[in-house]
Amino acid sequence: MVESSDACIAESRYACIMEDSKLVRCPYCREQVSLYVDPDTTGVLVEDCEVCCRPWHVEIERSGGKLRVRVNRAQ
Ligand SMILES: [Zn+2]
Repeated sequence: MVESSDACIAESRYACIMEDSKLVRCPYCREQVSLYVDPDTTGVLVEDCEVCCRPWHVEIERSGGKLRVRVNRAQ
């Protein structure tokens, strides 16, 4: 026999702390695109715009659980 429990189940703490996707604006086509950022990723990376496929230079910064993303044109 299995007893069901209403006890609070501790879900992944990261779910509410970490934002893993950010709305960014493409520096080329000006479209707003939701960019997924891996929880372990910080620093600079290059992503292609989903809309116009041009390369972004993406800077990812984390401070105090806050995710900050800056997108510029990759040269
Ligand atoms: Zn674009």
